[in-house]
Amino acid sequence: MPLDLAAIAKEKGIKYFLISYTDLFGNQRAKLAPASAIGGMQKAGAGFAGFATWLDMSPADPDLFGRPDPESLIQLPWKPEVGWLAADLWMDGKLVEHGPRNVLKAQLARAAALGLQMKTGVECEFFLVAPDGSAIADGADTQSKPCYDQQALMRRYDVITEICDCMLALGWAPYQNDHEDANGQFEMNWLYDDALVTADRQAFFKYMVKSLAEKHGLRATFMPKPFVHLTGNGCHMHVSMWKGAANVFEDAGSESGLSQLGLNFIGGVIHSADGLAAILNPTVNSYKRINAPRTNSGATWAPNTVTWTGNNRTHMIRVPEGDRFELRLADGAVNPYLMPAAVLAAGLDGLENKRDPGPRLDINMYIEGHTVSGVKTLPLNLLDALRALDGSVVLKQALGALVPAYLKLKQGEWNDFSSHLTQWERQTSLDC
Ligand SMILES: [Mg+2]
Repeated sequence: MPLDLAAIAKEKGIKYFLISYTDLFGNQRAKLAPASAIGGMQKAGAGFAGFATWLDMSPADPDLFGRPDPESLIQLPWKPEVGWLAADLWMDGKLVEHGPRNVLKAQLARAAALGLQMKTGVECEFFLVAPDGSAIADGADTQSKPCYDQQALMRRYDVITEICDCMLALGWAPYQNDHEDANGQFEMNWLYDDALVTADRQAFFKYMVKSLAEKHGLRATFMPKPFVHLTGNGCHMHVSMWKGAANVFEDAGSESGLSQLGLNFIGGVIHSADGLAAILNPTVNSYKRINAPRTNSGATWAPNTVTWTGNNRTHMIRVPEGDRFELRLADGAVNPYLMPAAVLAAGLDGLENKRDPGPRLDINMYIEGHTVSGVKTLPLNLLDALRALDGSVVLKQALGALVPAYLKLKQGEWNDFSSHLTQWERQTSLDC
């Protein structure tokens, strides 16, 4: 029996439900429905015009329905009369194949057919900026190495602890909050979980952080590189695969601590990395974070190369301990559902084809990268990444209808960007 949302509304005092879905570009779209209407909406879904959001649809298409997943219900801790629900997209009685949450569920089902469950943890970095977005909000936050700055962290005590209190109330098991490596930048960590649970939480986290920042007269941004001289917003993802209660990445007897299965999974991610970048680094701005010159703090903390290592933060993949790997590629603009879906698609290919991740490089890649040859580099811009995705047999086969839909809309975004005449062009070419 599915959970009865109308009954839950009565029991918990929920007056309105926010029926929410995440479109291809990561934007969250929602209808606010009174509890009196939730019974019908639980069955049929809330109606939307799909073309009006970032989905591959036309104005002539029939209604798009967002059917809420009752298991995803989150009662807003700061406004308990509202219940947030993640919705799955349907049209004409069929699941919309390129709907991001549907894409993730399809990949999780592929893993489940092999007896595998993906678990993920995400590190969603963000900046607190002035309401107009032009500058960081704290004028006193000026250290050149501001990471873990106690004073700057505590000046934001009210907003950071309000967000953390919400996570505690929701049972997410948050365990630490800090000031990150850029002025005005913060990170809040909660416990890893099943990949779909984490994806829903990541979507909700972004909404929660933005909402509570607004309440405190601030603006939160997850933009990949809002300030060119400062470290950007990463979204590092920790990945492990499980069979029941057993973490199948672990092998205490191996050199890296990872099992052969874990190495093959990483081999798959490395094999498809350039195409993955189109999804994990989804905006024009994303490429100003990866491949970037050194920032004021001394390092970008973002990868430049498709390499893996042990407990070393200068590569795309870090294996801090043998129970998981950390993929450091994605940024704050990443779609919470497409990130684990695409990584799982690449990883399953690694398992099926026994992909070799190549040598573990125990060097400082920022300084000694030139000493190793044959290392793949990451795409330099969104167009290169989209072309790599278009050329990825693995990702196209695994992700099905997502890839053509995504490429079509993102190519449009690139074309829109390219049509802009920048001040830089004027400065460098006016007197040519
Ligand atoms: Mg961080």
